[in-house]
Amino acid sequence: MAKVIDSKIPAGPVPEKWKEYKAHQRLVNPKNKLKLDVIVVGTGLAGASAAASLGEMGFNVINLCIQDSPRRAHSIAAQGGINAAKCYQNDGDSVYRLFYDTVKGGDYRAREANVYRLAEVSNNIIDQCVAQGVPFAREYGGMLANRSFGGAQVSRTFYAKGQTGQQLLLGAYSSLSCQVNAGKVKLYTRYEMEDVVIVDGRARGIIAKNLVTGKLERFSANAVVIATGGYGNTYFLSTNAMGCNCTAAVQCYRKGAYFANPSYVQIHPTCIPVHGDKQSKLTLMSESLRNDGRIWVPKKIEDAKALQAGTKQGWEIPEEDRDYYLERRYPAFGNLVPRDVASRAAKERCDKGFGVNNTGLAVFLDFSESINRLGIDIIMQRYGNLFEMYEEITDVFPGDVANEINGVKYYKPMMIYPAIHYTMGGIWVDYELQTSIPGLFAIGECNFSDHGANRLGASALMQGLADGYFVLPYTIQNYLADQAVWPKVSTDLPEFAEAEKKVDAEQDRLLNIKGKRSVDSIHKELGHIMWEYVGMGRTAEGLKTGLKKMHELEKEFDTNLFVPGTKEGLNIELDKAIHLRDFFTMGQLVAFDALSRNESCGGHFREEYQTEEGEAKRDDENYFYVGCWEYKGKGNEPELIKEPLEYEAIKVQTRNYKN
Ligand SMILES: Cc1cc2nc3c(=O)[nH]c(=O)nc-3n(C[C@H](O)[C@H](O)[C@H](O)COP(=O)(O)OP(=O)(O)OC[C@H]3O[C@@H](n4cnc5c(N)ncnc54)[C@H](O)[C@@H]3O)c2cc1C
Repeated sequence: MAKVIDSKIPAGPVPEKWKEYKAHQRLVNPKNKLKLDVIVVGTGLAGASAAASLGEMGFNVINLCIQDSPRRAHSIAAQGGINAAKCYQNDGDSVYRLFYDTVKGGDYRAREANVYRLAEVSNNIIDQCVAQGVPFAREYGGMLANRSFGGAQVSRTFYAKGQTGQQLLLGAYSSLSCQVNAGKVKLYTRYEMEDVVIVDGRARGIIAKNLVTGKLERFSANAVVIATGGYGNTYFLSTNAMGCNCTAAVQCYRKGAYFANPSYVQIHPTCIPVHGDKQSKLTLMSESLRNDGRIWVPKKIEDAKALQAGTKQGWEIPEEDRDYYLERRYPAFGNLVPRDVASRAAKERCDKGFGVNNTGLAVFLDFSESINRLGIDIIMQRYGNLFEMYEEITDVFPGDVANEINGVKYYKPMMIYPAIHYTMGGIWVDYELQTSIPGLFAIGECNFSDHGANRLGASALMQGLADGYFVLPYTIQNYLADQAVWPKVSTDLPEFAEAEKKVDAEQDRLLNIKGKRSVDSIHKELGHIMWEYVGMGRTAEGLKTGLKKMHELEKEFDTNLFVPGTKEGLNIELDKAIHLRDFFTMGQLVAFDALSRNESCGGHFREEYQTEEGEAKRDDENYFYVGCWEYKGKGNEPELIKEPLEYEAIKVQTRNYKN
């Protein structure tokens, strides 16, 4: 019989659940001096907010990150904004509407109760951040300003220019620093978690590596929280920071934590196109640009060919010859359709030959209409740093007038194309954010909890901060309340010694392969396989080929890798090799999940399952579940365990962004 997962969702109609739940918390009073220790791995928005909150509540927190400062976590990259249902625009927004949009945006594959809770705490997050001094954009009268993101017909995205993540992280960092100063949080920068230690079936600690000295160290605690981000870099080229990796999550998976919905990977429609094979990073152009930028390709194939050949420029093509294909196909949402829909539409146009650059893999994002309407100053106020970033990379400034046709000014458009950006899948967690290993919790992008098969823009920051400030600090107490009678275990236990020995042996193994290929060359090849066979359009045939190629490449990794240096002291190549080992496990998991899900939904698009109009075709009868995977050893197929989805408040239907 299939295993049953208890997601610990309390009974009752969804809107009441979270309130009821909070009322039943067994609160640990910060003043009662309980010596309860919690390890929080990660200092991105999820980790920093959780560590700060737990410290403030009286727990002793050990907080680690791989960067030299928490302020350099990948979260600083977030540009566009953070959602909340404040309804400052008086445009009909509400908690229910944010909840509904998020569930619909996720193509009805998210857990309903979690999303409701997320929408409910969204407003608290903004209040919390304002109190910390986060400089959100404001209207002339002082109210916080809002803009729109994809998948919503209201304006609910709060922002700080194009640096929202950075400003929110500075806010969380100041709270964290306060707790460091108070002695409640002990911060370990340049430390990497290499393994989780399980004692008597519970997570009791971790093995971490001091990345500067190379020394392995043991940490024990009453509970472990991982907040280590997503696995987008499995694809090598992505918008993620270079340091993003999935080692901590994969080690938890190897130790028994289920991995949920790995095939739900988000491909963001507005990234600077790939421009050569020497690139190691792709750059996002924030979705916020779709508020004022219009996406188009030429109507005529001969214009597209001329653009590809470089004999024509976008600004030479007059209005009547432009195909604003999102506005044409989805009149109700236009350029603000969700990311999966916009990405697929761009691919469809480029596959038909309408791409606008020399590779044929780009579409235009054009500000001519909005600059003519609002003036360049307003547009620069909204997107100035994004325009400058685009210019720095491409040498084209999107605010420059380039042509005038019939009295209409045409500005230089940006060129964009979809790229790997975010991972909706992650470590499986129950309603309390606890993984299938008791005492091990996962928050932020590294869990699977709230976005279903597609995340709406500006919802990742909301989820990370909801988890860190408002959910985990409550739910973890249900676990820790019982732990009060358990002493913290000693790091001398054989379980710690054994875990450390294994990590050490793995480093020796990688160093001793002494082959001929660098980590990056193999990683790049893995990325090609992932993009080609497990990317935007997937087929059963392609996924099987991809899996075969991944197995072969993994053998190459195990036999022909070259890692210079030693394990003593700083060795970045060795650290990257460990990450790549885990990207292999992850890549295969993404492919297994994609192969097992014979439907298309959100970011998971199986070409065999599409409507006549090329939209994703779900199969709710057979796939209305969270797909959780249990590790069965290297080279073996993982086992699929299903958590059936139950919707009470929202009617499951086909997504419609047309009317
Ligand atoms: C370019 C870009 C723009 C974005 N813009 C937006 C936006 O406008 N709005 C929005 O909502 N979302 C946005 N996102 C998504 C959002 O930024 C991320 O999903 C979110 O910041 C993830 O936060 P996190 O705390 O879960 O993880 P991260 O910020 O990735 O932090 C991970 C932390 O874990 C640590 N870590 C990782 N592995 C280990 C290990 N083994 N041991 C110890 N520490 C470890 C790292 O040091 C880091 O501190 C954007 C993403 C990108 C790439």
